[in-house]
Amino acid sequence: MPKNLSKIAKAKKIKYFLISFVDLFGVLRSKLVPTQAIGDMQKDGAGFAGFATWLDMTPADSDMFGVPDPDSLIQLPWNKEIGWLASDLYMDGKPVKASPRVMLKEQIKKMSQKKLQMKSGVECEYFLISEDGHSLADKRDIQSKPCYDQSALMRRYDLIKEICDCMLEMGWKPYQNDHEDANGQFEMNWDYSDSLITADRHVFFKFMVKSLAEKHGLRATFMPKPFSNLTGNGCHAHVSVWNGKTNKFLDNKNQLGLSKLAYNFLGGIMNNTQALSAFFNPTINSYRRINAPPTKSGATWSPSSISYTGNNRTHMIRIPDKGRFELRLMDGSANPYLLQAGIIAAGLEGINKKLNPGKPLHCNMYEDYKKYPKLKKLPNDINQAINMLQNSKALSKAFGADVIKSYIKLKNLEIKNFKSKNNFNKRKPVSQWEKDNTLDC
Ligand SMILES: [Mg+2]
Repeated sequence: MPKNLSKIAKAKKIKYFLISFVDLFGVLRSKLVPTQAIGDMQKDGAGFAGFATWLDMTPADSDMFGVPDPDSLIQLPWNKEIGWLASDLYMDGKPVKASPRVMLKEQIKKMSQKKLQMKSGVECEYFLISEDGHSLADKRDIQSKPCYDQSALMRRYDLIKEICDCMLEMGWKPYQNDHEDANGQFEMNWDYSDSLITADRHVFFKFMVKSLAEKHGLRATFMPKPFSNLTGNGCHAHVSVWNGKTNKFLDNKNQLGLSKLAYNFLGGIMNNTQALSAFFNPTINSYRRINAPPTKSGATWSPSSISYTGNNRTHMIRIPDKGRFELRLMDGSANPYLLQAGIIAAGLEGINKKLNPGKPLHCNMYEDYKKYPKLKKLPNDINQAINMLQNSKALSKAFGADVIKSYIKLKNLEIKNFKSKNNFNKRKPVSQWEKDNTLDC
């Protein structure tokens, strides 16, 4: 029996529900629904005009409906009158195939047909900036190596504590908060979970951080590279695959602690990385972060070549510990559902075709990349990434050719809009267009 949202509302004194969905560009959209209407909405969904969002629809299309997933319910810790719900989009009684949460659920279904489940955790970095987006909020945060700076962290204690308290209350098991490698940059970590739960929490985390920052008179941004001289906002993911309570990635006898299945999964990721950049690094601004010149702190902490290694942060994939790997490619503008869906789709190809990722490299890739000229490189800009997605038979097969076509069509519209006013040059300062279109990603 699905949970009855009307009853829950009464018990928890919820007055309004936000029935939300995320479109292909990762924009979080909602209807605010009073509790007395939630019974019908739980059955039929909240109505939306698809064309008004970043989904490939026309004004003539019928209404689409966001049918809330009651398991995703979060009572806002900072405003208990409101319950937040993730929803799945339906049109004419069928799921909207080119909608991100549906796309992820489709990949999860394929995984479960093999009796496998992906678990993951995400590390969402963000900056606290001025209202206009031109400078950092903390004028004293100017050290050349500001990572883990206690004073700068504690000047933001009131906000960080409130966000962390919320995560404790929601049962996410947060375990650490820090000042990251760029001035004005922070990261907060909570426990890994099933990929759908992590994706929903990732969506909610961004909403929560932005909302609470505003409450404290600040602005938070997950933009990949708001300042060209500082380290960008990554969104690394830690990945493992399970069968029930058994971690199928774990092999204690292997030198790096990974099983054959894990190496095949890795092979799939490495095979599809170039095309997946269109999902993992989806904005024009994303390409200031990867393949980037060194930053003020001395390193970009982001990859340029497609390689994997042990516990070494200069490669795209790091194996920090037995039984899991960390994919360091994604940035703060990645759509939380497409991030997880992309990893599963690529990993499944690797498992199905028993792909081999080759040998791990144990060099400092930031310095030694010239010694490995044959390594595949990451795309240099969004155009290259979109072209690689267009040419990817594997991703077309995984998501459906129509879904990929829709994504490419919308991205090309965005690129055209940018190009009508700008030229992309990662050595020049971040353009106003990028700020206007990415600061609130
Ligand atoms: Mg980090």
